[in-house]
Amino acid sequence: MEEKSTIIIGAGIAGLSAGCYGQMNDYHTLIFEMHNELGGCCTSWKRAGYTIDGCFHYLTGSGPGQVFYPIWEELGALQGRTIVDPEEYARIEGKDGKAFIVYADIDRLEQHMKDLAPEDNEVIEAFINGIRIMMNFPMPVEKPQELYSPIDGLKMGLRMLPFLGFYRKFGNVTIQDYAHRFKNPFLRQAFLHIVNLQNRPDFPLLGQLQVLAWMHQKSAGYPVGGSLAFAHALGRRYLDLGGKIHYEARVAKILVENDRAVGVRLADGCELRSDTVIYTGDGHHVIFDMLGGKYINGRIQGYYERLPITPPIIHIGLGVARSFEGIPYSATGTDFPLEEPITVGDHKHERLCVRIYNFDPTLAPAGKTMLKVYFATDYAYWKKVKQDPERYEMEKEQIADQVVAALDRRYPGLAAQVEMRDVATPVTFEHYTGNWQGSFMGWQTSTKTLIMRMSKTLPGLKNFYLAGKWVEPGGGVPTAAMSGRNVTQIICQQDNRPFITTFLASSQQLTSTNNTFGV
Ligand SMILES: Cc1cc2nc3c(=O)[nH]c(=O)nc-3n(C[C@H](O)[C@H](O)[C@H](O)COP(=O)(O)OP(=O)(O)OC[C@H]3O[C@@H](n4cnc5c(N)ncnc54)[C@H](O)[C@@H]3O)c2cc1C
Repeated sequence: MEEKSTIIIGAGIAGLSAGCYGQMNDYHTLIFEMHNELGGCCTSWKRAGYTIDGCFHYLTGSGPGQVFYPIWEELGALQGRTIVDPEEYARIEGKDGKAFIVYADIDRLEQHMKDLAPEDNEVIEAFINGIRIMMNFPMPVEKPQELYSPIDGLKMGLRMLPFLGFYRKFGNVTIQDYAHRFKNPFLRQAFLHIVNLQNRPDFPLLGQLQVLAWMHQKSAGYPVGGSLAFAHALGRRYLDLGGKIHYEARVAKILVENDRAVGVRLADGCELRSDTVIYTGDGHHVIFDMLGGKYINGRIQGYYERLPITPPIIHIGLGVARSFEGIPYSATGTDFPLEEPITVGDHKHERLCVRIYNFDPTLAPAGKTMLKVYFATDYAYWKKVKQDPERYEMEKEQIADQVVAALDRRYPGLAAQVEMRDVATPVTFEHYTGNWQGSFMGWQTSTKTLIMRMSKTLPGLKNFYLAGKWVEPGGGVPTAAMSGRNVTQIICQQDNRPFITTFLASSQQLTSTNNTFGV
């Protein structure tokens, strides 16, 4: 087979995945990562004896039977890893202490919702039924739509057929729309907060039903050790497959000759050539800056002008000398109303959602716990404040003060137990990952983007591919991995090679197989 080389930009999940699948298919791959660490947004960092986890609420495909599970096996991400499945997806409290507990077990959830709001039996049953239906929804992850033959299209159409009516009924329904269907005032209000990120009542109901279906099926658990340990497993797999990563190597330019990508120029001026270039960093930067907006069409222009991005966040990590025993593991945390609003930038937040990592002992010394709180916030605000370093630090401290005071009211005595505080803003996320406006999930999930497919190539530019969250609306770790896999499938097809995958059996023995999927 002809030897071919691939340069991959970025050692986040999409880049590592593209690297692993490239190596499995006999491409010589090389990853350039601008940071001194891999993982991108799938990361954790250490402070004063604590590990602050910067990513996972849950990992889709953490359990067998879910479509992403074989991908994690191929990438060596789950072998030997402990997964904890949440008892609750979320806990949403009202002013009087009443709680809407979104249990992961849907029979328990149904009973709990009916106890809270017997007058809403019908709406509750329709909601629970929706979760049941989504348990069998055939997510098309096995190969990119670009490679669908007419037969593949037909097969997929047939698999989707039973869901058509359901999709017609709920495809355009948002969380806000559905919340209004409840008569019970508490449930109507609480349901709005089922999606963790504040200011997202327009989140599509179908997306939420899907997540709850995975939770019930125990295929959206948390990998103990946290996000960076998870990313390291992919990194190890990549290196074992013969790949190479160059750290602190920022790619400044895509080299193009006759409308073909032929390599990259690094920030230090060094140039390297390859047959193919895969870019997994920020989409806006590569399209408009690195390639000067030359390879674009109206559709791509429209995304960047009109599609909302997942709001950037301010992320507060706390190390607390307390064990929080008896508090069940909630995937997104406990969301409660504040006696005094917390001011973040120009916005006052009336509620706070805290995630208590008592389910991962690796993140804190014995008997202590890592806590995390975050708020959606405005990138432009933080970009401006950052110009005045003293004010930037002061505002971060003020936010941490407000969060600690609010948590102390909810968990008395907590303020005196705080040993470590760490605040990251959208500018921090932008600095470490290069993502547009510090967004960590790319395009926002909405009723429009839920089934949207974006091209992984740019019009008029050959041998150049995009992978990662800027071409996979909704973002997230599994779609980033799928994206790296899909791009390799496209390249293999281009080069007339069969797409081969290998996986690590639990015995760590390398097993070879053809594409594990069957479309
Ligand atoms: C607080 C938080 C919570 C989250 N919760 C979840 C969750 O529960 N479940 C889930 O699935 N996902 C979650 N995510 C999202 C998930 O982490 C991301 O969507 C995913 O990791 C994105 O991967 P990626 O490879 O597409 O991009 P990135 O992680 O952004 O990787 C891009 C990489 O490219 C590098 N790079 C960029 N430009 C260059 C350049 N010019 N030269 C060299 N290198 C470059 C960057 O440094 C980075 O390492 C969360 C993220 C955050 C921050």
